[in-house]
Amino acid sequence: MKLLVTGGAGFIGSAVVRLAVARGHQVVNLDAMTYAACAANVASVAGSGLYAFEKADIRDRAALERIFAAHRPDAVMHLAAESHVDRSIDGPGDFIETNITGTYNMLEAARVYWTASGKPEGFRFHHISTDEVFGSLGAEGQFTEATPYDPRSPYSASKAASDHLVRAWHETYGLPVVLTNCSNNYGPYHFPEKLIPVVILNALHGREIPVYGKGENIRDWLYVEDHAEALLLVLEKGALGRSYNIGGENERRNIDLVRMICALLDEMQPKAGSYAEQIAFVTDRPGHDARYAIDPSRIREELGWRPSVTVEEGLRRTVRWYLDNEAWWRPLLERAELGQRLGAGDGA
Ligand code: NAD
Repeated sequence: MKLLVTGGAGFIGSAVVRLAVARGHQVVNLDAMTYAACAANVASVAGSGLYAFEKADIRDRAALERIFAAHRPDAVMHLAAESHVDRSIDGPGDFIETNITGTYNMLEAARVYWTASGKPEGFRFHHISTDEVFGSLGAEGQFTEATPYDPRSPYSASKAASDHLVRAWHETYGLPVVLTNCSNNYGPYHFPEKLIPVVILNALHGREIPVYGKGENIRDWLYVEDHAEALLLVLEKGALGRSYNIGGENERRNIDLVRMICALLDEMQPKAGSYAEQIAFVTDRPGHDARYAIDPSRIREELGWRPSVTVEEGLRRTVRWYLDNEAWWRPLLERAELGQRLGAGDGA
């Protein structure tokens, strides 16, 4: 298949690109290369002959139409987005433009192309979204695909809007879509402003490890390579117009996750005392969702997918990766703007 992947130079998009190329698919990576992108994320496949890159912004509809016409993809995997909740609180505008208007542009460019190509049966538009659209859970319960949307941050509201647009393009125009809503990802190439890299890198630099509130917020963690596997499976086998929740079956309180990372660092990069002594509780994020949890029964029962990596194993691999890949993260940390932001993070 020839896949048009948007946001393929970001964290999850690059895992999708690497896996798709490894499976023998041709990939066109459409990415605006914002602050969150890194060319090194796809360096391993760049010379493979199966990979092409288009630097373009999904807010630019004409560019999208040109790319569809030039590359004639068999399917689209739409991941490009502004993705960091804290940034959406500081400045929501880019989230509205990229996540909502950008998705609208992608849908329209895809519809024009699909229609002009005679509506080929196998064409798919796969929209990649987040469990944050469902809002916040109490101690009990899990998000299913039928959970009503209740987004509470500018980021999740913009993703919720994009999900609605995708469903509307299916119902109204018949565009063949599939959707996925996934829990917090982690793993190699995770941008240094997110919770797990913040913990690892602040620990290694002898700085405070910031944890929001009392660290009691609960997230479900999925290793990014498991997510990439699930995304390709839904693209190939998911039912049209249907959405699939993807989760790691790995719920953890933030503070417990942070302590696990500190214990791994104590083991892999020992120092006098424990890294856990650097943990510092900081003022909570406004509107901080208490708990996210995914009921993954649909993807498990219909498509036979389940996560293959436990959080213990995934964190071990991730900590090892950051210890071994300073050449990747050092230049990102040296950007002044990011240095100031390394206060706190929450994964998504
Ligand atoms: P990321 O921030 O690491 O990467 C986003 C990519 O999109 C970057 O390469 C960036 O350059 C590109 N991009 C941003 N704006 C663009 C624009 N206007 N035009 C073209 N490209 C643009 O994000 P991520 O964590 O890899 O997330 C990818 C997708 O998965 C997003 O849609 C996000 O909502 C969703 N998601 C993320 C998580 C998570 O835990 N990270 C969980 C569930 C769903």
